[in-house]
Amino acid sequence: MTNDLESILNIIQRPFQLEEKTKYLDRAVIGGLGAYVTNWVAKANENAASEQTELLRSLAALFRDYHEIQQDVRRARLHEASGIIDKLCGRVSDMPEKPAVTSSERRMDDVPDESPASESLAEPVEISQDIGQLAVLSKSMEFVKGIGPRRAQLLGEEISAITIADFLEYYPRDYLDRSRFKPIYQTGRSGEYETIQGVVVNQMEFTSRRSMKVLKVIVYDETAVVSLMAFGKRTQYMKNSLKVDTKVVVSGKFKRSYNEISTSEYTYEVLSDEDAELIHTGRIVPVYPLTAKLNQRSLRRWSKAIVDEYASYVPEILPLDIRKRQGLIDKAVAVKNIHFPATEQHLKEARHRLAFDELFFLELGLGLKKEKWETEEPGISFQRQTDLLQKFISSLPFQLTSAQKRVFAEIESDMKSTRRMNRLLQGDVGSGKTVVAAMAMLLAVDNMYQSALMAPTEILAEQHYNTLTRLLFPIGIHVALLRGDMPKRSRDSALAQIESGEAHIVVGTHALIQTGVKFANLGMVITDEQHRFGVMQRAELREKGTNPDVLVMTATPIPRTLALTVYGDLNVSVIDEMPPGRQKITTKWVAEGKRQEMYKFIEKQIAQGRQAYLVYPLVEESEKLEDLKAATEMAEHFQHEVFPNLKVGLIHGRMRAVEKQAVMQSFKDNQINILVSTTVIEVGIDVPNASLMLIEHAERFGLAQLHQLRGRVGRSELKSYCLLIANPKNTDAVARMKAMVRTTDGFVIAEEDLKIRGPGEFFGTRQAGMPDLKVASLLRDARLLELARDEAFRIAKDDPALIKPEHQMLKQILQEKWRANLEMASIG
Ligand code: ADP
Ligand code: MG
Repeated sequence: MTNDLESILNIIQRPFQLEEKTKYLDRAVIGGLGAYVTNWVAKANENAASEQTELLRSLAALFRDYHEIQQDVRRARLHEASGIIDKLCGRVSDMPEKPAVTSSERRMDDVPDESPASESLAEPVEISQDIGQLAVLSKSMEFVKGIGPRRAQLLGEEISAITIADFLEYYPRDYLDRSRFKPIYQTGRSGEYETIQGVVVNQMEFTSRRSMKVLKVIVYDETAVVSLMAFGKRTQYMKNSLKVDTKVVVSGKFKRSYNEISTSEYTYEVLSDEDAELIHTGRIVPVYPLTAKLNQRSLRRWSKAIVDEYASYVPEILPLDIRKRQGLIDKAVAVKNIHFPATEQHLKEARHRLAFDELFFLELGLGLKKEKWETEEPGISFQRQTDLLQKFISSLPFQLTSAQKRVFAEIESDMKSTRRMNRLLQGDVGSGKTVVAAMAMLLAVDNMYQSALMAPTEILAEQHYNTLTRLLFPIGIHVALLRGDMPKRSRDSALAQIESGEAHIVVGTHALIQTGVKFANLGMVITDEQHRFGVMQRAELREKGTNPDVLVMTATPIPRTLALTVYGDLNVSVIDEMPPGRQKITTKWVAEGKRQEMYKFIEKQIAQGRQAYLVYPLVEESEKLEDLKAATEMAEHFQHEVFPNLKVGLIHGRMRAVEKQAVMQSFKDNQINILVSTTVIEVGIDVPNASLMLIEHAERFGLAQLHQLRGRVGRSELKSYCLLIANPKNTDAVARMKAMVRTTDGFVIAEEDLKIRGPGEFFGTRQAGMPDLKVASLLRDARLLELARDEAFRIAKDDPALIKPEHQMLKQILQEKWRANLEMASIG
């Protein structure tokens, strides 16, 4: 049977050479290669085993349109066809796209955070009180037997392992389960990665027809042989390292064809006699992250020695009751098992414990910081002195939502207390945070204190200034604006008002925290974050007052896990309700082909009195001239060709402030129907009659940014629409579009964003205090984070200065951990 197939394949391949000689003009066989191959493949199919029909199908597919394609395409097809035929014959193919040898083996990093088996808790150790243990662990690596100064220096340079403790924290990035070897005769049936152990019995070297070097290394394990295939450059190296009689472990994907087992997708490791202890094999083996100068075998050997000798010195820092409650194994055991787990269950328990510790220390730091901030120095107790707040509330053209009322009650109770307030105010775009912020600032003003509101961009500062002036001027409150780009005269006058106390409320960018800005008596500090300020900047503004209360607002919701870490020392208030009468914004991902239809729809909406934004994706800071040209041309195209009867306006970041203001005013007055804009409208713009948004090249925006943009519509009872035109080039971008269409809930969007981008990227380049986690993951370990936080905050409340004897070891380690994070450590 097989011979039949092989001979048919030879027939198929026979005219290939002639075709090559005759320059791929499809003259090699009468009637053309297309018909010829199709015909013979049909015959071959009759003789093929089921796993071969797929290959035959792709072979036929290569010739279906052979006569129609260009000569150079034909040439590529023939090359590919030869590769497939080689494969079908069990010959070695030397096609360039041969799958690269990868090191991926069975991974075990998706360990769920379940409670560990109780066996490990059999005899838990007491909490360590012996600081001497730490001294042993902080010994330099050069004093470790078998390391010495030279290797110690290498390890210091390559993986920052200066001390023994550092090295113990250099965790494996992966594990190979070599606890179970398969007899070779059983391999090659599952299609999965398998591991075998054997001895090299032969090497065979030859050159393929396309003159590539091929090496076959035959490994035998007393049940069968397997051929390890190598090609090209790799052959030389393998020839030397896999000499006859070498013991070797091979993990890879094994294939069977014509009773030969072979693999060309594998990793291998040579075993020496000193592997008697099975460091490298016969167990679950750690795989460490490598650098150019470090190899896996040495690292593993050193790790084994160090873990055996020193892991028992790792102090237990968690009180027994916490370990019991959380089902955690002892720390020393966890350290040992994260490196050399006996079973998967041991590994799971080790990760669980170490992940808990990471999150626990992070939260303990935050908990202590919070306690310190709230209790160390007394804050201001703000009381309602006059009817100022009441006057403000009744001057509003709307009723506060119950969420706004509840959140303000939380803020007011913080403000009344002599504890210093440190609170995060979260709420979706358009949920009405500004009004709440205004109320908090008014309460300070009512107590003869100044308030400051710091915004991340000039435009947003300006917007806040306008809103607050409009709301507060009628009740006699003086709001001042301080921006970075002010002319000297207005700046001096603003500074004077701030210093004299004439300005009750000051709005600004980070210009507010520059030296030279002096407040008369700053009592209330609000930052409107948009995740853009670092902890430092927040603290600097705080320093401008004497123990002011602090409120942090976020323009975009933050996933809970990130809120608990980056903002973990803050109390949290959430506005979880939109002002009444708001309709859900309908979001559509519009196909390019439906563009005309969409224009008609826009026209119809505008005929009913609505207005529209048309957003062009230029990044504000880097608006280049050619990009602006594109936006400008777009505006003109819309004005003259698409909507000649409507008024189209243009606004972009390069315009001067007065020009921008003029355009915004005409849009507000509905003298402009369609506003073409770059992302300058991302934040702060409030035109309730605009109920349509069209975003071009939506794939270029991040999810948070898209959500912010969309928040510009849907700001009244009018039914609003957000139309996305996108041509996403990758799956992330597709995921973003789908998330936008699926939900308008900012908290859901934030969670999606976190999933797509990962915690490190979520806050953009400035990683505002993002913790450095080795084992725990903010994506996977959300529940563990809550548990660790509960325990940590319990301790922080109970012993805020960590003076109890059982907390001494904890304190010692915490100080070391937080010393590394200067930014956080220096904030009190
Ligand atoms: P955020 O800053 O949370 O994005 P804003 O404070 O800018 O939201 O409020 C969005 C819009 O809703 C503004 O036009 C504001 O005047 C209006 N608004 C705020 N609170 C209410 C309310 N309780 N009822 C009706 N409209 C409100
Ligand atoms: Mg706002």
